[in-house]
Amino acid sequence: MPELPEVETIARQLAPELTNAVLSRVLVSRDDIIHGDPRPLPGLLRGRRVDRVHRRAKRIVMDLSGGAQLVFHLGMTGTLTMTRVRAAVDNHTHLRIRIRGTDRELRFRDPRRFGGVWCLTDQPKYVGQKLGPLGPEPLELRIKQFKAILRRSRPIKPLLLDQTVVAGLGNIYSDESLHAAGVHPLTRADSLDGDAASRLLRCIKSTLRRAIRFSGTTMMDYRTPSGAKGSFRRFLRVYGREGEPCRRCRASIERIVVAGRSSFFCPQCQRRTRERGKVRRCEREKMRT
Ligand SMILES: [Zn+2]
Repeated sequence: MPELPEVETIARQLAPELTNAVLSRVLVSRDDIIHGDPRPLPGLLRGRRVDRVHRRAKRIVMDLSGGAQLVFHLGMTGTLTMTRVRAAVDNHTHLRIRIRGTDRELRFRDPRRFGGVWCLTDQPKYVGQKLGPLGPEPLELRIKQFKAILRRSRPIKPLLLDQTVVAGLGNIYSDESLHAAGVHPLTRADSLDGDAASRLLRCIKSTLRRAIRFSGTTMMDYRTPSGAKGSFRRFLRVYGREGEPCRRCRASIERIVVAGRSSFFCPQCQRRTRERGKVRRCEREKMRT
């Protein structure tokens, strides 16, 4: 699933081509992926200029003239590509938007349809799935804010995945950041001291920035708007590496399921404080028997 670095890559690559472009013909193949303003999308978008393309959390946002916004959520398998109008259309392409005065168009494709397109206008009416509330952007988080976020008894991994708490992190970059900071995914958020909190925030930011530099990670479906794969996968230290040696200490990477999601971690580099206590207790008991 595309996370912050992938979506940032897409927004940055779309921006030069789409900023100041005027939208013309709009072809919708599946209505059920369109949410927001209920008026037919083609009539609503045609003739609008794209003022800005940017990212918020895992969403690509296009600010359009007249105060409208077109928001794309890529879900699990969504892609946004810029292509020639005459290029062959892949299966599962649900939306095509032509750019006036060019032979180019924007295509939204999403085989599994967990993603969608939201057209937001000043119309109070709203159809379809709502876009949920979002927490702050991790790259803009200050340490004071982050420490306030950590004042919860939840384990750190599901807390980082919660988009209403911090917006943009998913499974890959939360696992990578926790490994870089030496924090076990099941550590209670409020048990991290000031140093650990600062280290974790630093690792989250550096992991995300580095992944953006390499256009994100392609595990399966993610592609940039030009159709290229992200190249950060070769730098992954834990994600998807169960049974492989930790690049730091050579211990075997483990996988556990946390809040229904696979979590990859190094049992040596990411020890749980409480577990260490347990191990010591077990060892003492063994010695006694
Ligand atoms: Zn390790």
